[in-house]
Amino acid sequence: MSAVIQPGEIRPPAQEAPFVRPADRKHVFRRRADRLLQLASDHPLEPFLMFVASVARAQQNALDQLDAASVSLPPELSLAEQRRRGEPVFSAWSSRLEPVWHEVLTGILADVETAAPAPTRAAIDTLRGMDRAELGTVARQVLEGNLAMADPARTPLIAAALQVYWTHLATALPVEDFGVIRSDPEPHAGHCPLCGSAPVASVVQIGGTQQGLRYLHCSLCESEWHLVRVKCSNCDATTGLEYLGLEGDKGAIKAETCHECHSYLKIFYMEKDFEVDAVADDLASLGLDLLLAEEGHLRSGPSLFFIPGEESANAS
Ligand SMILES: [Zn+2]
Ligand SMILES: [Zn+2]
Repeated sequence: MSAVIQPGEIRPPAQEAPFVRPADRKHVFRRRADRLLQLASDHPLEPFLMFVASVARAQQNALDQLDAASVSLPPELSLAEQRRRGEPVFSAWSSRLEPVWHEVLTGILADVETAAPAPTRAAIDTLRGMDRAELGTVARQVLEGNLAMADPARTPLIAAALQVYWTHLATALPVEDFGVIRSDPEPHAGHCPLCGSAPVASVVQIGGTQQGLRYLHCSLCESEWHLVRVKCSNCDATTGLEYLGLEGDKGAIKAETCHECHSYLKIFYMEKDFEVDAVADDLASLGLDLLLAEEGHLRSGPSLFFIPGEESANAS
């Protein structure tokens, strides 16, 4: 006799959910652009968000033009083995940048030029005047998370090109080989299993096997990977976590703050707003970052599009 499925049993156990969710390369940046336009309406940072939307559209154009032959993949990858060792497949720190990334950057600069505010137009001219070695040096700063001295107008444009390049790499891999979520604690879960970068934010999913599960969103390659809820992605603490949000919003955005390491990572709840995009919603909630900075919390993940400085990409 076949078993009758009860309503509470319809959802498969969490262990069947994938450990890594790849980016949807056909739509990832286009959807981000749409989300940024939606969030920009009546927002205090409207010009900034509108400009980042134009960058996201340019990123999708650039990604659409990359094909399988654009970048060579390492031979005989064993993703399951690399997951076990906690080694990223394409380390942002040590992987060689292939020349095609310059073409990606050139395409993005051309696409965003007309929409760019004055400081960014000047940054575009500067970038066009730099040789490949100089561009490579700036790219390395971004990839190594060395943003303290970064130029606030130039760096987001370089970061945009690097995101496209790494998204292309990440979506060329059979990420299902990473397997499903395990019941035992995941080692090295605070960094992207594909590129080793820190997460920009995390998203609690809705639907299917991933209902209610939290995935961290890579700041570089747009992949997402699972981390249990109520755990600091920076120091693995599972106690002393506090969830802070802005008064008056609909509760879709909180900051998971850690009393152990004094860092925080934003967490977005699709159940409250199913259209959330980790990068777009992170930028649109900079007010929360300001509040947390006043209270002495530090971001654990980078925001590649907002580099604090005298003149940022949004300055007009
Ligand atoms: Zn990544
Ligand atoms: Zn911590």
